[in-house]
Amino acid sequence: MQELTHWINGKHVKGTTGRFTDVFNPATGEVQAKVPLASVAELSAAVDDAAKAQVAWGATNPQRRARVMMKFAALINENMDKLAEAVSREHGKTLPDARGDVQRGLEVVEVCMGAPALLKGEYMNDGGPGIDLFSMRQPLGVVAGITPFNFPAMIPLWKMAPALASGNAMILKPSERCPSTSLLLAELLQEAGLPDGVLQVVNGDKEVVDAILDHETIQAVGFVGSTPIAQYIYGRAASNGKRAQCFGGAKNHMIIMPDADMDKAADALVGAGFGAAGERCMAISVAVPVGDKTADALIERLVPRIEKLKVGPYTAGEDVDYGPLITRASQERVKGLITSGVEQGATLVTDGRDFTLQGYENGFFVGPTLFDNVTAEMDIYKEEIFGPVLSQVRAKTYDEALRLTMDNPYGNGTAIFTADGDTARDFASRVNVGMVGINFPIPVPLSYFSFGGWKKSAFGDLNQYGPDAFRFYTKTKTVTARWFSGIKEGGEFAFKAMD
Ligand code: NAD
Repeated sequence: MQELTHWINGKHVKGTTGRFTDVFNPATGEVQAKVPLASVAELSAAVDDAAKAQVAWGATNPQRRARVMMKFAALINENMDKLAEAVSREHGKTLPDARGDVQRGLEVVEVCMGAPALLKGEYMNDGGPGIDLFSMRQPLGVVAGITPFNFPAMIPLWKMAPALASGNAMILKPSERCPSTSLLLAELLQEAGLPDGVLQVVNGDKEVVDAILDHETIQAVGFVGSTPIAQYIYGRAASNGKRAQCFGGAKNHMIIMPDADMDKAADALVGAGFGAAGERCMAISVAVPVGDKTADALIERLVPRIEKLKVGPYTAGEDVDYGPLITRASQERVKGLITSGVEQGATLVTDGRDFTLQGYENGFFVGPTLFDNVTAEMDIYKEEIFGPVLSQVRAKTYDEALRLTMDNPYGNGTAIFTADGDTARDFASRVNVGMVGINFPIPVPLSYFSFGGWKKSAFGDLNQYGPDAFRFYTKTKTVTARWFSGIKEGGEFAFKAMD
């Protein structure tokens, strides 16, 4: 049994609390490692050392910090397969999907190579007679990242790269379900030249999260996870005077107009609904065809595609479409929700509850499940299922489909499939959701834009990655300066314009 560690001051450090939690192989249901759960004291020591290390790192010029990012990006590329394997081993997603997980994180590191340009302030010459104004962006100090299980490489990279490139030290608390990738990334960062102590990976559960939220030295918290926890973290961090951006869950709708290319829409729905077993915050979980003809045409195309899906462990080859869920509890919850859908009157078109795989009978698999005639009152509509379950809600008109999407409490991602530019344009401008796809089912923006949902999918300000991340991880200082040659004698007592 492998005993995992924390990463403190540039070294793997064993936990001292005696508290551990199991890390499963989700394909077999077996425990493959145990991860230490840090105490308040362990966290405090890691923060103290990070604060010391941050002083020199924050004073290092941004271009030198960017060079660490350049080397880091090269090392991620060199270690792509090793990182992807670590992701798949603990998460269960397929290797091609795991490489995508690493890749979309790497792209944020690539943007951070341009940190000097993103950290530049503003300047105004002659804001008043002989008066110049300029602003600078300075690091916050020690910040924290708290990340979910479902993207073990991408989301830690989204947190650490902009925070570190901005001159902060970071305490990263990865998901206790998939902690190994973060430890590997920390090793690579050290090899890239990051000074020891600037990134501390502290493993743990609620106890250490609460200690992060209450620690006076920690200036900001970047969180990604489920909505109730995001809201809790936001409230507690903010009430302790910290900056917080907390990204939560989702229920992403895809509208299919009658003029859409139905084959392309069906392909998109199968990939976006069942890829990564539906465990993506940008998964499409609700298909909203407009008109019964569109709905029937879609079902007709979805069923054969679903029947062909290959579900299995990542070790079974690159042609596996998706793997197991993350835990037994999550498998049982998803099956329970499917049962509730049947009981509440939805039409179960394909049923994944009895899925089993020879040799992997104890794995946390659920087969692909498709519901038709789902309504907004049903639990399968109201809950973020986070499993391979696609619900079709029939709408009579475009306006009804748009209203349904807008009335949903979540607002992470959404998509429309149509051949009509005017409808697509109307949808993109009116819908109250943070990321919109037009004939694009999973519109995760490229790394030089930014990622963030609306409504219950995000709490706090500014998005993840892109220029927003540099604003989040720095504070602005504005200097008003003049030099005394030619100034009038005496003090000025009135608070007045710079005339
Ligand atoms: P989670 O909320 O259970 O856990 C996220 C983090 O919070 C973990 O590090 C965990 O240790 C910690 N945590 C859990 N319970 C806690 C508690 N009671 N107090 C303090 N800390 C706690 O989320 P998860 O199951 O790991 O991830 C899946 C969720 O994340 C889904 O809801 C998904 O939609 C969401 N997600 C959102 C985004 C986004 O950018 N909006 C991206 C990926 C995942």
